[in-house]
Formats: sequence, structure tokens, C-alpha cells
Amino acid sequence: MHIEQEVKLDFKDVLIRPKRSTLASRSEVDITREYTFLHSGKRYQGIPLIAANMDTVGTMAMARAFAEQQLSVALHKHYPVDELVSFFTALPVKSNAFYSMGIGASDYAKFQDVMTRAPGAVEYVCIDVANGYSEQFVAFVKKVRTAWPQLVIMAGNVVTGDMTEELILAGVDIVKVGIGPGSVCTTRKMTGVGYPQLSAVIECADAAHGLGGLICSDGGCTVPGDLAKAFGGGADFVMLGGMLAGHDETEGDVVEKDGAQFKRFYGMSSRVAMEKYAGGVAEYRASEGKEVLIPYRGPVVNSLQDMLGGIRSACTYVGAKKLKELSKRTTFIRVTQQINEVFG
Ligand code: 5GP
Repeated sequence: MHIEQEVKLDFKDVLIRPKRSTLASRSEVDITREYTFLHSGKRYQGIPLIAANMDTVGTMAMARAFAEQQLSVALHKHYPVDELVSFFTALPVKSNAFYSMGIGASDYAKFQDVMTRAPGAVEYVCIDVANGYSEQFVAFVKKVRTAWPQLVIMAGNVVTGDMTEELILAGVDIVKVGIGPGSVCTTRKMTGVGYPQLSAVIECADAAHGLGGLICSDGGCTVPGDLAKAFGGGADFVMLGGMLAGHDETEGDVVEKDGAQFKRFYGMSSRVAMEKYAGGVAEYRASEGKEVLIPYRGPVVNSLQDMLGGIRSACTYVGAKKLKELSKRTTFIRVTQQINEVFG
């Protein structure tokens, strides 16, 4: 039995050490980034936060609200073809929305259909599976890359440098990193498999950047400081589910309970999602997601101010004028207590 002894870290295990700075105010900080993607050669400019392709959060309403803020959304994969065609054809900023798909034959056929009916409208795709270590997954990614050389492909999920490299060599522009850190994910509990998210980000970013590729940290951000830590650790994009749940732009009605208002939020492999889309939990598999009620939070722009303000402020603490400089100026210190919880 081989046990890796090196400690692997989550966001909560570290803080960012402040550094001398000449910045007078957080308003001087530029949190947009520009990338030219390795394979597609496309140029991106925006604030590199992406709403997760969960059916609650990865909605067209979220994409519209995010477009004004230069943020992106990975649309969930359950929209019908007609809606996708009209959405992507009308899209003002192409880099704002990712088309999402799994790796089944029906996913491929549906995508072909959309690409035929809306030529050139989709520029960004997200191909994701819970476990990005399978041969079929890599083969699927290669097939999409060969068929559409101009597409920006984000694909995952993986958590180690070797697999990040393999995906980039297979044609991926952005490797999606994260197994088990999600707010409504129960993979670690059900399978014992996972990887602390900050270490996954640091290791995968290192591997990707060495080959000219990029990564997206997916899952596990619970407070704005976690976004700063993900970017500080080398993430080029950060994907968010739970932090965006409960807003007007999410799918589902507001429910009342004991006089308070809530919205439902659940994992994409939870029992709720599987009953909605797959006619129930198949016999051979267990649900790896849970359902929660999130206090209703109104329009997403209210929360965005906090999130973006937090990232800007982190940049001023370490003297980074641009988000691009944050990882170079980040020194993590290991801590035993991150936050004072005396008042809950
Ligand atoms: P969050 O920002 O809520 O912590 O994490 C969002 C991410 O959790 C998603 O982008 C996706 O990768 C992951 N996720 C969503 N639903 C499920 C699920 O049912 N099971 C698992 N294992 N992960 C999920």
C-alpha cells in the first residue's frame, strides 16, 4: 500500500499573506482577464467567473444577467434544441455562454443538430462527466476537437496534473478541475474518492500552464475569499454553483417555509435531478448529490458586488493591480483557523 504523505489543502486550510502595495484603492484593480486559447486560437476578454452547468444555476436568465457584467455561464444541457438555437443565434457576446454536453451518442447528435441549425453561433463548449479519467471521455473530446477545430473546449473533471496534460494534448483549451468539492456533492461520502480543491488547482494549473493550456476551478467556493484563493492558486477561471443559488435568475419557484422564502438547489446527480431527467436513480448507481433549500437572495447582481469586491480587495492586499498578477503575488500560509466563528 502506497500512501502519499504530502499534505493536500482545501481553501479553508490557508490564508493569503498581505504584501506591500502602492495601490490606494480597490477601484484601481482590474479583474478582467484576456486569454488566447491554445487550440481554438480564439481570444477571450472578461471576468473569468462561470456559472455552473447545473439546471438550477446554468440558466439563460443567468447568462443574460451575467453578460452585462462580463461574466460567463455554462448553460445546463437539458434545454431543448429550439431554445438553444434561438438563444445562441441572438447572443450579443459569444464568450458569455458555454454549450454543455455529456459524452453520450445523443449528446453528440444534439450538438450536431444545434451547430447545423445555428452555424457559427456556438463558440464555447463544456464537455463534462463526473469522472474525467475514462478512455471514452478522452476519445469523445478528441472527436469534438477534430470535428470543430474553431471551438473553445472546456472539459473535465479531473484533479491531477497527468490527466490535465492528457486532456490538453487531446485538444482541450480549458481543463475543468474538481472531484468532490461541490456544495451539493456527496461523491466523497459515497465513494471515498476526491482531492482537496486548492491543491488540485495548484497542481493542475502548473501542468496546464506548462503546455499553454488553462484551467477552471470547479466547486468548493463558499465565500468570496475562496475565489481569491482559487485565482491565487493559479486558476484561470472559477466555476460557481452554490454561491449563485437562491437568486431570481435561477430555475425553480420561491417556496415559503415557516414564514421565510427559499429556493431549491440540488446536485446534478442527486435523486431529484435523476428523477427529473433520467426517470429515477438507475439500479447500478447511487445518487451522488443532495438537495437543499437556500434562503431566497433576490437579483444576482446584489451578490455579485460582494464577490467581485472581495476579489478586488484581495488584489489590493497583495498589491496586484490586475487579476493576472494575483497568483504571482500570492503566498499561502497554512492555518488552523480561517474565520472567527464566535457569532455563528
Ligand atoms: P459549488 O460551487 O456548488 O460548490 O460546486 C458546483 C459544482 O459541483 C458543479 O459545477 C459540479 O462540478 C459539481 N456538482 C454539481 N452537482 C453535483 C452532483 O450531484 N454530484 C457531484 N459529485 N458533483 C456535483
